This record gives sequence, structure tokens and C-alpha cells, in this order.
Amino acid sequence: MQHSHHPVELDVDVVVVGAGAAGLTAATDLRRAGLSVVVLEARDRVGGRLHTDVVDGAVLEVGGQWVSPDQTALLATLDELGLTTHPRFREGDSVFVDADGTRTRYTGEVLPCDPRTEAEVSRLTGVLDALVAQVDPDRPWEHPDAERLDRTSFEAWLADQTDDEQARVQVALFVAGAMLTKPAHAFSVLQALLMAASAGSFSHLVDPDFILDRRVVGGLQQVPLRLAERLGGDVLLGRPVRTLRWSAGEGEDGGSVVAEADGGAVVRARRAVLALAPVLLPRITFDPPLPLRQQQLHQHLSMGFVIKVHAVYDTPFWRADGLSGTAFGPHELCHEAYDNTNHGDARGTLVGFVSDVRADEVLALTADERRERVLESLAHYYGEQAKHPVVYYESDWGSEEWTRGAYAASFDLGGLHRYGADLRTPVGPVSFACSDLAGLGYQHVDGAIRMGHLVAERIAAELAVPVPVGAAR
Ligand SMILES: Cc1cc2nc3c(=O)[nH]c(=O)nc-3n(C[C@H](O)[C@H](O)[C@H](O)COP(=O)(O)OP(=O)(O)OC[C@H]3O[C@@H](n4cnc5c(N)ncnc54)[C@H](O)[C@@H]3O)c2cc1C
Repeated sequence: MQHSHHPVELDVDVVVVGAGAAGLTAATDLRRAGLSVVVLEARDRVGGRLHTDVVDGAVLEVGGQWVSPDQTALLATLDELGLTTHPRFREGDSVFVDADGTRTRYTGEVLPCDPRTEAEVSRLTGVLDALVAQVDPDRPWEHPDAERLDRTSFEAWLADQTDDEQARVQVALFVAGAMLTKPAHAFSVLQALLMAASAGSFSHLVDPDFILDRRVVGGLQQVPLRLAERLGGDVLLGRPVRTLRWSAGEGEDGGSVVAEADGGAVVRARRAVLALAPVLLPRITFDPPLPLRQQQLHQHLSMGFVIKVHAVYDTPFWRADGLSGTAFGPHELCHEAYDNTNHGDARGTLVGFVSDVRADEVLALTADERRERVLESLAHYYGEQAKHPVVYYESDWGSEEWTRGAYAASFDLGGLHRYGADLRTPVGPVSFACSDLAGLGYQHVDGAIRMGHLVAERIAAELAVPVPVGAAR
């Protein structure tokens, strides 16, 4: 990796913009295919939304971290890079806090509620699983009822399905607060179905033992770090791309690009891979401008927003109380929380999430008030001891210039069926790759890796170079 602010001019086959999991996967495959590659990264580090930070001696995964069994592209990459995983700690009782603050210990994946609500949640889960089974995560807009499903908000659909408010709150919790990190009135049923289909089923989304199954020893940022290490000096840090000049070329030639980044970096290439969150694409000046369709579709995508909070204690005190650390409270400030103790660490770490409108609400407070409110919420789950961590940390991706939200981008109402089919369509020599464009693994590292492989394969084929067997798939 190179960090320099000196002017540099390079000629390569492919310029990759963004050194997250998608960009580095694409660059790795392209290089394996015998093509020359340069990666231009805006930040002073690689990994994008994967980042391990050390805060007052505590090692914290402040971005993406969990791996689930369906994420086969990510699992193949972990294998290839020699990375190992460990299960999320889950021995003991989970905790549920309801609207009036009553705390209930429970086991299994069904949140405690009265039998009628439990039956309604189970029925809704069945309805959603059946709908999800009809959705191809790579082409949700091809569902026969796509338009209607995309014009209806998830909130309105739930209201139409059941008059049991608690059942609606529980189902919305797993799609809105826990996944898309937008209020349920702000995204469509089709978008919710894509989210679930990308993980195999709706039942997978509501089961933390599936979707939050394992973590990587040493942190998930090891993936981009190791990929970048292999790419060596071809990864240039601190080089935000401001302008992309492109020409579609004529006939077979397929065009060319010139990427201009800070510090006088100019990279001429036959192809470009833009591997960044699609909401950031309008920050790049395209010359000539992107076609109308792309200009429009990028305006119909927006990032969700969630604050990931870590609290580190001298010991994982909740375990002594027979608690697994897994906690849900749809009406709590932290709607979900988990034991996030690092592998082999004697200290105990809790992670909690404050999503969408609640994140807006707490961000209007001072840092001290915010900390107090968040720890109060954790204390509702784990008791008074939760109020006294030795390290407290909030990761606010919304303020990060090169991400601007968390976890990822999704369409507004109606946007998915209207524009989704063009999300990944290349424009002349310019291709797009990101977890937020994925089908399987959508909004997850697995999807980022899949998109990286996909664009690399297409570009290698276009430039008539076979991708060798052995490239992780
Ligand atoms: C708090 C949080 C928790 C998450 N939890 C999980 C989880 O547990 N499991 C999971 O699988 N996923 C999780 N995710 C999602 C996952 O981290 C992302 O889906 C994935 O890392 C995205 O990878 P990417 O390469 O597509 O995009 P990014 O990681 O966003 O990478 C894009 C890169 O492009 C760079 N860039 C942007 N603009 C420019 C420019 N103009 N010029 C040059 N470079 C530019 C950025 O700096 C960045 O490095 C989480 C995300 C967050 C934020």
C-alpha cells in the first residue's frame, strides 16, 4: 500500500476506485487474470465499512463483523486468506424488554409474548418466507407482483396483514431496525423481500444464531488488509477520485477512462471499477456525465443509519448471571445487543445498536447525555453493572465522509422495481461493484465479494483474458 501525496501518472488495464471488500476482490481477480491494476482509495486505510479500531486498549470491530453460513463467497475468501472464525457467544438465556420495561429471560429464537402474538408472528413469518421463496435476489423486480410490492411500504403491508400491534412491531424490528436501518414506512415490501432473499429466507433474518453466527479471529477487516497486502504498491491510499473522464470508444475497442484523484494522481486505464457505496457516485464528476438512467437511479438510493455502540467491562459479568448477552427490546433505545467479547479476551464486551429515528434523536444530545441514555438502555437488559464500562465507543458512520451512513444503501418506495435492473449495468468502460448492489449477500461483505468477482470476470472476459481456476468464487 502506498501513502503519498505526490503527483503520479499511471497507465494500467483497470483502475479500481475504492479499497473496500468489493474493490480489493475485483483487483485481486483482475490481477490473477494477468491484467495490470491500480486501486485508488480515498481514506488513509483500506477496508471501507470494515474497520478494527483500538480504543483505550480495547480492540473493537466498529463496522461489519459477523459471518453467516449462507455467505459462501465470504467463507471461500476467509479460507483462501487463511483466516479462522469463532462462534458468537450464545450460551445462556437471552433477554427481552417489552414496551412497559418488563424484562423477560428466554431461550430459543421466539421473542416472549402472549400466545396470540406468538401465533401471529409465526403466521407472518410463514407468509414472508413464502413470498421470499418467489423472489430471485438477483432480480427482485421480476417478481410478477413487483410493482405493487414496491409501491407498498413495509409498515402499510404489515398493517394490512394483522391488527396485532405487537406482532407488527416484532416483525418490523428484524427488517427495519436490525437490517435496512430505516423506519418501516420508508422502504417497500419488495425491498424487505430482497433483504430476506439475500440471506436465503425471512426466517434466517430473525434468527441471530444464523445471521450473526460467527466472527473472524483478528476481525473481519483482516479480509481487506490481507487482500491489499498482496496487491502491495498497487493500492494508493489518500487518493479520493474527484473526476472520471471516460469514452465509450468505437466498435471492439470498448473505450477508456482517466481517473483523477487528489495529490495529482492520474490513472489512465481501459476499464474502471467503481467499488463504492452508490450514494457516493454523484460526488465524482463524470466527463461526459453518466447517462440519464444512472443519474436518476442514484438519486433514489439512500443509506440507512445505525449507531453501533461498544461497552467494554473488566469481565463479561452477564455470563456469570447465566445470560448469553443476546437481548432485544423493540421499544428500547438499543433495539438489539449482543456479547461481542473478542476471541480469547478476558474482558467482556457488549455491542448495542441504535437505529434510524432513534439515532437521530440521540445524536441531537451531547456526548455525555448520549452515553447515559445508551448505557441506561443496556442496563435494562443486563442490570446496573452495564452502566459502568471501562471503555465506551460509538461508531457513527453517518459522519464519515466516504461512507455517510450504515449499514448500506437501499431504494426509496418504488425505486427498486423502477431502477434496480440497471444498478449493475456498466456504462461504457465503467463498471459498478459494491455490497449495496448485490443480490445474494446484499448489504453484507459476502455481497461485496460477489460483486467484486462478478465485475472482474466480466472485464477479464471483455479484455479476453481467462480468470485462472483457483480464484475464489
Ligand atoms: C456498523 C456496520 C456494521 C456492519 N455489520 C456487518 C456484519 O456484521 N456483517 C456483514 O457482512 N456486513 C456488515 N456490514 C456491512 C458491510 O460492512 C458492507 O456491506 C461492506 O463492508 C461493504 O463493502 P464495499 O466494498 O461494497 O463498500 P465499502 O466498504 O463502503 O468500500 C468502499 C470504499 O470506497 C472508498 N471511496 C468512496 N468514495 C471514493 C472516491 N471518490 N475515491 C476513492 N475511494 C472512495 C471508501 O473510502 C471505501 O473504502 C456492516 C456495516 C456497518 C457500517
